[in-house]
Amino acid sequence: MAPGKSPLIDGFQRRITYLRLSVTDRCDLRCQYCMPERMQFLPRTEVLTLEELHRIALAFIARGVTKIRLTGGEPLVRRDMIDLVRALGREIGTGLEELTLTTNGTRLAEFADDLVAAGVRRVNVSLDTLDADRFAELSRRDRLSQVLDGIAAAREAGLRVKINTVALKGVNEQEIADLVAWAHGHGHDMTLIEVMPLGEVDGERIDHYLPLTAVRADLERRWTLTAEDHSTGGPARYVRVAETGGRLGFITPLTGNFCDGCNRVRVTTTGQLYACLGGREQVDLRAAVRSADPGAAIDAALTEAMTIKPHRHAFAIREKGEAPALARHMSVTGG
Ligand code: SAM
Ligand code: SF4
Repeated sequence: MAPGKSPLIDGFQRRITYLRLSVTDRCDLRCQYCMPERMQFLPRTEVLTLEELHRIALAFIARGVTKIRLTGGEPLVRRDMIDLVRALGREIGTGLEELTLTTNGTRLAEFADDLVAAGVRRVNVSLDTLDADRFAELSRRDRLSQVLDGIAAAREAGLRVKINTVALKGVNEQEIADLVAWAHGHGHDMTLIEVMPLGEVDGERIDHYLPLTAVRADLERRWTLTAEDHSTGGPARYVRVAETGGRLGFITPLTGNFCDGCNRVRVTTTGQLYACLGGREQVDLRAAVRSADPGAAIDAALTEAMTIKPHRHAFAIREKGEAPALARHMSVTGG
């Protein structure tokens, strides 16, 4: 933390050390659970410049944030994104401990070496199926081979890869064990995620909601799962799978609340700081970064964000036709 600065501590005495920074709301896929086919993206004029994103990230580091994850939309579709990675990579070791990103992997082959050169050591890659037809249907784009090439290139470049998979009833339900075996067989950790009611999508959420309690029970019939203490400072609870030797995480926003240990906030590509993924509480960092005294204004906004961070989210998926818990899509807050 920078001298003279105070740490970010919320009203529940949780210290905020992790920033998820969205660099774009745009994406080259249209995953059905994330956004509608005809997603309305933001006009480019609304989006923060690279310099503004950089300045905001530095303000967080000065207040004790040690980990930054770049996300989106798809972070690697923003043209100048790698310049931001390089600029933030230079902060590693000066307070920032880790710079990482979450990507759909379609452009990883192109950027893997640059990411490593900039100081990135780990990436999360989202992959919900290994079946090309299912991938094309689920993401509405035929890109599975590109993603698999991207994952292979990332490993070759020296990046550690964690696979994130959203569990979806009637979509990849029957394939989850195969996905776990594939990920572990390739040396990747893997995390399963429950689908969350964020933003309008074309179908019914409840049709695809698959509680991870059921997935875990199914995997336990097949394999020996042993709970692990391992934590990445996030909401996942981990097990070791004896038969594959790999680590498997479960993120259960619906069946198991994990908010007590929350250490993070999110900033959208328009500079809205959301104190909680599942809440409406926000402060406007774009106004702050564009004010006459950005340093002081951002600092004041970060302090204010600590006073509005809620204790926990209140996601639920109960019935057909129900409105999303929040109107904003995951691609806006970046997961
Ligand atoms: N495009 C990148 C990707 O897919 O990894 C980064 C952004 S994406 C919004 C981040 C993560 O959110 C992905 O793992 C995606 O599967 C997940 N996601 C998107 N919508 C979701 C939803 N409604 N519920 C749960 N996870 C969701
Ligand atoms: Fe794009 Fe990621 Fe959303 Fe899929 S989950 S549409 S890859 S932002």
